[in-house]
Amino acid sequence: MMENRGVLSIIFDLDNTLVDTAGAGRIAIQKVYELLKSTHVQENHITDICNCFLLKLLHESFDPSEGKTIDDVRIHHWYEALQETQGTDLDPDLPSSCYYRWKNTRLQALTLSPEVRSLLEELQKNYKLLLLTNGDTQTQWEKIEAVRCEGLFSVVVVGGDHPEQKPARSIFTHCFESAGVRPHDCIMVGDSLSTDIQGGINAGVRATVWINSDCKSLPQGSVTPDYTVPSVLKLNDVLAELMLK
Ligand SMILES: [Mg+2]
Repeated sequence: MMENRGVLSIIFDLDNTLVDTAGAGRIAIQKVYELLKSTHVQENHITDICNCFLLKLLHESFDPSEGKTIDDVRIHHWYEALQETQGTDLDPDLPSSCYYRWKNTRLQALTLSPEVRSLLEELQKNYKLLLLTNGDTQTQWEKIEAVRCEGLFSVVVVGGDHPEQKPARSIFTHCFESAGVRPHDCIMVGDSLSTDIQGGINAGVRATVWINSDCKSLPQGSVTPDYTVPSVLKLNDVLAELMLK
């Protein structure tokens, strides 16, 4: 018989769960816009160029075994985005200038708010906190470093360092083993239904908590989270409810 030990551990997603990655991305694009405005690129092309980069970022597939870094791949996104309107007039240094303006601005803008940091510091006293983030190794570790959050977690796991990412069961099993906990001891908290919530369900965690900051309704055919909150700052309400169960 499985003893009922209560929740021992909380697994957090990073992007758009603990930090506002989307907001930081908007600030970063604005900075590239300003950079391009200071060049000979026609102003009426700049929005298209930025949107083209964002589309390439969204549909990006990155295979580190091809010998390129994520920086190379993303500089090339800017190259292609600029090439479409600039053609042969393209300044050869501009793609890399755009990329580093975007990347550095985004990393600088990415912070744990004081409220989220103190929530985690409080939770850390009673729960084992785990960070489980999808994405390529370099990008995600750069974010974790920029956010200075490593000390808040017992275990930090980046998807790109493992054969499978969320929602695969294997990466959750790795988390449980690293933290010395069982699936039923854990709750999974994240903003993505297809990776965080589906992954938590696949892995058999005690409960899943969906961070739904835009108050979207659940899409047709989607997995159903056990709890839905508009912000991670409401997590204590969920923990209190779980305690009553
Ligand atoms: Mg996320």
